[in-house]
Amino acid sequence: MNRASEPSFRESVDLMFNRAVALMDLPPGLEEKIRVCNATYTVRFGVRLRGEMRTFTGYRSVHSEHMEPVKGGIRYAPSVNQDEVEALAALMTYKCALVEAPFGGSKGGLCIDPRQYDEHELEQITRRFAYELAKRDLINPSQNVPAPDMGTGEREMAWIADQYARMNTTDINARACVTGKPLNAGGISGRVEATGRGVQFALREFFRDSRDMAQAGLTGSLDGKRVIVQGLGNVGFHAAKFLSEEDGALIVGVIERDGALVNDEGLDVEAVHQWIVKHGGVSGFPDATFVENGAVVLEEDCDILIPAALEGVINLDNAERIKAPLIIEAANGPVTAGADDILRKKGTVIIPDMYANAGGVTVSYFEWVKNLSHIRFGRMQRRQEEARHQLVIDELQRLDDYLGDAWSMSPNFKDKYLRGADELELVRSGLDDTMRISYQSMREVWHSRADVTDLRTAAYLVSIDKVAASYRAKGL
Ligand code: NAD
Repeated sequence: MNRASEPSFRESVDLMFNRAVALMDLPPGLEEKIRVCNATYTVRFGVRLRGEMRTFTGYRSVHSEHMEPVKGGIRYAPSVNQDEVEALAALMTYKCALVEAPFGGSKGGLCIDPRQYDEHELEQITRRFAYELAKRDLINPSQNVPAPDMGTGEREMAWIADQYARMNTTDINARACVTGKPLNAGGISGRVEATGRGVQFALREFFRDSRDMAQAGLTGSLDGKRVIVQGLGNVGFHAAKFLSEEDGALIVGVIERDGALVNDEGLDVEAVHQWIVKHGGVSGFPDATFVENGAVVLEEDCDILIPAALEGVINLDNAERIKAPLIIEAANGPVTAGADDILRKKGTVIIPDMYANAGGVTVSYFEWVKNLSHIRFGRMQRRQEEARHQLVIDELQRLDDYLGDAWSMSPNFKDKYLRGADELELVRSGLDDTMRISYQSMREVWHSRADVTDLRTAAYLVSIDKVAASYRAKGL
């Protein structure tokens, strides 16, 4: 077996979709309508850089408009192509449906290696790309709302928002044209960490159910579990950081572009991240063994494998050798359809991408709502909440005084109880709730239907059902 015989990313997504719809009772026309990508726009534009005109190719694909606006990130990578953008747009449709974010699916990409350009050049390129998309309503608060993805972040989103605002000077909702912006440009607290935080919440929910753990042959909790992460970028870094610092997991391997770090005692994620920022890779990091061929570390023994870099990394070539009993797909499409078949047969549990990395779009949804309502979450109720809690504290204080040494309030209780929730706490709470509820909807299907043997099929069943319901409601 070799990778050449594997389907493309989009075909892989379609194969997984087909496996799920075969278990449903949808009219064939509706099935086809949901599967196909509605439209993909290709743009080639020139930017004058370093004394010459350079041409760039970009895409924005709209997979499904059963709900609008459509939503999905913009990726900057040299490998971006139409097939990939369409696969990612389809995943966005299913992802939004699964976590009940009221959007259709879209995705964009620019064929560029951002590391080859300085900040000013990237700004020129991004603004020009945004201009091309905005003039066709492919960036628009009510029609199409991008977000960050691989190779892009807050900085690019701020340029896009500003470009849109310049072109639509009277649009009071202009800031809602893109999410993942910095806080001072209309962003929301907790968006940068959101996808990694969602991966943490997903794993916590998995470890709440002994049946799920049993499927992977795992027991106990996240504490002490050995984790290997591929890609210490936005998603991988936050997931690894929170899992190690807050849940006691041991990050025993980190795989990056230039190789991998391995340390059975657990790596200091923050220190590795700082090292990458400073040196551009993991090579030379002092407290670990460096493995030049990083990809082989995917095959190392561990409890949880978190691919958080790119698609297709677990494929027909290496699937048989993957030892991790639990894989959580923080990246989009890291396991090909062929590898998925092999792993399922081996009994590996896979928490699928459309759910596992939905934290980003969930908090993007909160940001979009914040932009449309023009007010920060918690602003109206925070002090009122504090005032009501003060009443309870006053009563408890009376009791405390009355009972003397026999009883007193626990240390710190007053401070903790009095504090009204700020935006970050509200965002994390909304994200936690979303990740729990959507996991539970997959779990219910997984455990209640004999013909559903994996979480990915369960996730597709839940989401396709929701998309179909909204098409039906439109009379289609
Ligand atoms: P990023 O650009 O911040 O990070 C990607 C990381 O992967 C970088 O550290 C890069 O050096 C590393 N990498 C690249 N090629 C590699 C290779 N061959 N081997 C090992 N490491 C490699 O990107 P991100 O935003 O963290 O996105 C990662 C994945 O998560 C993508 O699949 C993306 O679609 C998905 N995702 C991201 C978000 C988000 O909010 N950013 C949301 C949902 C899904």
